[in-house]
Amino acid sequence: MGNMAGTAGDRAAARGRMRAMVLEPGAGARLCARERLVPRPHGHDVLLRVSACGVCRTDLHLLDGELAPRRAALVPGHEIVGVVCALGSRAAQWRVGQRVGVPWLAHSCGACAFCRSGRENLCDRARFTGLDRDGGYADYVVADARYCLPLPARYDDVHAAPLLCAGLIGYRAYAMTGAARRLGLYGFGAAAHIVAQLAVAQGREVYAFTRPGDARSQRFARALGAVWAGASDGPAPVPLDAAILFAADGALVPSALAACAKGATVVCAGIHMSELPAMPYALLWGERCLRSVANLTRADGAAFMRLAERIDLRTAPVVYPLARANDALADLRAGAFDGAAVLVPPPC
Ligand SMILES: [Zn+2]
Ligand SMILES: [Zn+2]
Repeated sequence: MGNMAGTAGDRAAARGRMRAMVLEPGAGARLCARERLVPRPHGHDVLLRVSACGVCRTDLHLLDGELAPRRAALVPGHEIVGVVCALGSRAAQWRVGQRVGVPWLAHSCGACAFCRSGRENLCDRARFTGLDRDGGYADYVVADARYCLPLPARYDDVHAAPLLCAGLIGYRAYAMTGAARRLGLYGFGAAAHIVAQLAVAQGREVYAFTRPGDARSQRFARALGAVWAGASDGPAPVPLDAAILFAADGALVPSALAACAKGATVVCAGIHMSELPAMPYALLWGERCLRSVANLTRADGAAFMRLAERIDLRTAPVVYPLARANDALADLRAGAFDGAAVLVPPPC
């Protein structure tokens, strides 16, 4: 690692060790703090000193076994902000010292029918950060330089981290709603709090649906510009033109369809959802469309970061030190905060 930069990085690299929070089989639904070797970047990879890493609901699905890790002793985390500290021999896109973002999509094959039609998010051989590759719950991470994203300078590290999945997947889901004027958001967490601001900035009306009785989240939604906020088990005040489901509760699908006008699209934005209940066809009739959103493309990343450069998205990070990753996950599960949890590794 000849071109390692930064004093903290220098010291850790000199020792060749780093701290990581690891998902180990048999450890139950908790990550284990481990010391590991700092990985070396080969080929297209860059080595990043992690500055901040967002905590995503997908990480909870991993912890709970609803999503199977694809390697033993996996380091989760796919909303990584880091500084390039070493380059593989073929990672010419970036320079040492540059700040980059690492999103969920870690690799696509470039050859399958999906990749060749601009849909690398559906690639048969796609690999994902914090699922197939070790992620950002660590001091250092290696990532394929071709899949890293530039980050708008207006966001500091902890405010930028939630953009990388909550923002990006939220953006892809939002884009699926076309020109919908009245937009319903079910589950007002990390993704919705970013999408709401995008939608408001673009002149849409946002209707926020939260757990019944969750007055705090409803206030948060109104503070971010929602014209209405209320319980997800109740009716919408007006027929919606589209809805996005960020909550992982399949029972919300018929509710959202019922809240929508004819021709509306309901987008399921999560990687996992509980089973959908049986429902009358009348809920889908009238050219209502029910679809999911899977992953992201690099084009989504570029388009969203251009928007985030222009629109001042007030992400609401709740910062935890890396060693408290389990607390961050528990608080996410409990709905203990508004906005997005972000892990920050302490200086080496
Ligand atoms: Zn995510
Ligand atoms: Zn492919």
